[in-house]
Amino acid sequence: MARNVYSTDSYAREVAATVVDVDDVDRRVLLDTTVFYPGGGGQPHDTGALWVGDDAIQVDRVTSDRGNVWHWIAGDLPAVGTPVRAQLDWDRRYTLMRTHTAMHAMCGVVWERYQSPVTGGNMKEGEGRLDFELPDWDSAHKFPMEEELNRQLAKALEVTVSFLPRDEADADPSLIRTKVSLLPKGLTEVRVIDIVGLDRQADGGTHVHRTDEVGRVEITKVESKGRAFRRIRFELLD
Ligand SMILES: [Zn+2]
Repeated sequence: MARNVYSTDSYAREVAATVVDVDDVDRRVLLDTTVFYPGGGGQPHDTGALWVGDDAIQVDRVTSDRGNVWHWIAGDLPAVGTPVRAQLDWDRRYTLMRTHTAMHAMCGVVWERYQSPVTGGNMKEGEGRLDFELPDWDSAHKFPMEEELNRQLAKALEVTVSFLPRDEADADPSLIRTKVSLLPKGLTEVRVIDIVGLDRQADGGTHVHRTDEVGRVEITKVESKGRAFRRIRFELLD
């Protein structure tokens, strides 16, 4: 199966494609290639439009079914074989890329200070939350952590995408903390996002190329959800 464009080029805003399948019950279409991210790993799915000539068909929802990316639409369904231009709502997607990259940077900062693995997370445009096992947390740590996070982001660290054979990923100590062992058994190749020098994760989402694109981040709240369970909430300031 061909990789979808977002997997290797997160900055592609649109792509010329052909409709290869139509589901007229659920009102959704499959394309031979797409820029639309179907959601996952805490990152929401994209929105945008499929252009047929000068007519835009709104894409409200995107889902993945065994690697097939379905575009859910409200208007008329195009027929199989129709050439379309698949175009993202780019402002929304780019904000999600910045938010997602901030989450990785936060994981790196928490790991360096506490060696605590991330246990969960979620985001929407411009804000996110991450859960950590952080037994040694004190509220006085919040401001220094925010300063360190912003210091790292301002360093303009490179963010790279690579694909590793499964057995290499399983043996990589820097990936163990992101629970690579929890990935589906049948997966033979693992996509790895590396904020060079700060954080490395197995991940399917979309990110910016350099950490300074994120801008400044505020840690808005650190909630205690249990003895060692801390939920860190943040917002993008720029
Ligand atoms: Zn990610």
